[in-house]
Amino acid sequence: MINPTPRVRIAPSPTGEPHVGTVYIALFNYLFAKKMGGEFILRIEDTDATRSTPEFEEKVLDALKWTGLTWSEGPDVGGPYGPYRQSDRKDMYQPYAQELLNKGHAFRCFCTPERLEQMREAQRAGGKPPKYDGLCLHLKAEEVTAKMAAGETSVVRMKIPTEGSCDFTDGVYGEVSIPWDSVDMQVLIKGDGMPTYHMANVIDDHLMKITHVARGEEWLASVPKHILLYRYFEWDQPVFMHLSLMRNADKSKLSKRKNPTSISYYSALGYLPEALMNFLGLFFIQIAEGEELLTMDELANQFDPDNLSKAGAIFDIQKLDWLNGRWLREKLTPEEFIARSLEWAMENLRLTEGLKLSQSRISKLGELPQLAGFLLSGDVGLTPASFAGLKTSPAETLEIINTVQADLEKILEWNVETIDQELRSVADKLGKKLRVVTPPLFVAVSGSARSLPLFDSMALLGRSVVRQRLKVAATVVASMVGDGN
Ligand code: GLU
Repeated sequence: MINPTPRVRIAPSPTGEPHVGTVYIALFNYLFAKKMGGEFILRIEDTDATRSTPEFEEKVLDALKWTGLTWSEGPDVGGPYGPYRQSDRKDMYQPYAQELLNKGHAFRCFCTPERLEQMREAQRAGGKPPKYDGLCLHLKAEEVTAKMAAGETSVVRMKIPTEGSCDFTDGVYGEVSIPWDSVDMQVLIKGDGMPTYHMANVIDDHLMKITHVARGEEWLASVPKHILLYRYFEWDQPVFMHLSLMRNADKSKLSKRKNPTSISYYSALGYLPEALMNFLGLFFIQIAEGEELLTMDELANQFDPDNLSKAGAIFDIQKLDWLNGRWLREKLTPEEFIARSLEWAMENLRLTEGLKLSQSRISKLGELPQLAGFLLSGDVGLTPASFAGLKTSPAETLEIINTVQADLEKILEWNVETIDQELRSVADKLGKKLRVVTPPLFVAVSGSARSLPLFDSMALLGRSVVRQRLKVAATVVASMVGDGN
């Protein structure tokens, strides 16, 4: 068989702020397609209806566009294998589930969530990993029909071999062997008729003619389920490549608690997309010292899937800062530098919105940098002195900041109204007046007790910048509590 044109994809789930990890995987796929003369496509995987939102989908698309990556097929540009959003494909999966049921590769399971919880509880108590025990595997056809006729809710689960192991070659890991008895009888179709990630992912990869699946190593353990589905359907399976996750300097998994992980944070702080992509691209290629400054085309030229970098992907912010500085100083003409600076200041209209908010509080234009500068600063320079003038004690201030920090994560749509509501509910929860809760937040967010309206400022700064400022504020105030100040 002639090798088909390589087709790779990035398949983000719009369940949160776009993460640098998504861009890292997207870049790998993009470079792979560019190098191999293939196609890079975008598919939105929103089968988790409770966590996926249109707002997050828009943000994922915006973030990927900001990085400069382009895709030849996707929900925004269409293409021959669309729709490219799984919720728009939901009626396509059912016949495949039926095929598996007919062939005896899957079965209906009527177990209630309560029963499953008890089962898992007992397994955990016995020191066993939680896994479906196969109760419904033994239902007779008449029993299934009767239960269905009685309107009992069911899911479709896949059957898993009881012996042996799933052996496959991963394009990055090499030979992998996973025993079947460690693989769960995965739900393929949920009670509400929606497919799970595994089902939709495999069917879509097949229908969209994906030849290489490159994704994060957290999916390696799912490969046996996917391979089994390809076998059950008698489809050719793609080549799997599982990339090592990006890690913090201490080797822990990159998480927003240690390093900002949102793309919006890096764009708000004035990192150039070229520099971020340069930084992420260096994780894939082997390069001599002194040759690190590379454009996307240069990265693609250097990229060789058979000779990937063996060094782990450590998210070293200092290296990113260094590369970003070099991009700003060495790669932009003065005209480009000015244009990019203005573009950055106007991101989300923050300069004009900041000016509008400043008007009612100003007596001389010269006060503008002091009044509104925090909307653009990377760091507002918080020190214990910043919080010293507050009426709340450091311990109370810390409690306020920590509670707000945790509760702001619950907001689905980030805007003035939702922030307002959430902060009022934090005040209620803490049994304090809103006017007691807000002053520490003014300082944390703007660096000063006198600044622009708080809720509007937080909305303009965006969730990821506010998160980082609250994190810094919590560290500073915690040191004051420790000092007994
Ligand atoms: N929707 C999955 C994710 O967000 C995609 C994983 C895959 O590429 O198969 O990570």
